[in-house]
Amino acid sequence: MLTLAIIKPDAIQAGNAGKILAFLEGQGFKLRAARLVRLTQTQAETFYAVHRERPFFRSLVTFMTSGRGLVLALERDDAVSYLREIIGATDPAEATPGTVRKLYAQSKERNAIHAADSPENAAREVAFFFPEGELAGL
Ligand code: ATP
Ligand code: MG
Repeated sequence: MLTLAIIKPDAIQAGNAGKILAFLEGQGFKLRAARLVRLTQTQAETFYAVHRERPFFRSLVTFMTSGRGLVLALERDDAVSYLREIIGATDPAEATPGTVRKLYAQSKERNAIHAADSPENAAREVAFFFPEGELAGL
């Protein structure tokens, strides 16, 4: 089963992308596709549309468009729920020790990684970022 992750601009900027990818591979995820992408404002607004009424929305869009993110299609048994478990809570202050966000997040906003939160969203996000993936058997 596939899931979708984005190593966010803060982690790329801090030079942590390789360490995060190595951690994910060490947890049994196989890398199936990857792209470095600077989201447009419209893409970031669409991606996080569920949060558009929240007070942090403008700041989140500014952050997510501030630099490139590394978008990953990752395969593993139980990929969606297992990835959510090992990235840790949204706020690093609340994240379990050893999770990606506990290790690498700078704040609740600049929190190093996104992971799809349901199989439906994972499929939608993989198709969005890797539209050629059908050809590659994704
Ligand atoms: P993601 O959707 O990026 O995988 P998540 O599912 O853990 O993260 P969401 O509640 O969906 O968390 O929030 C989306 C993103 O918005 C968070 O990852 C974080 O970057 C930002 N965010 C969420 N809550 C806050 C907040 N209270 N203040 C600032 N930024 C926030
Ligand atoms: Mg979310």
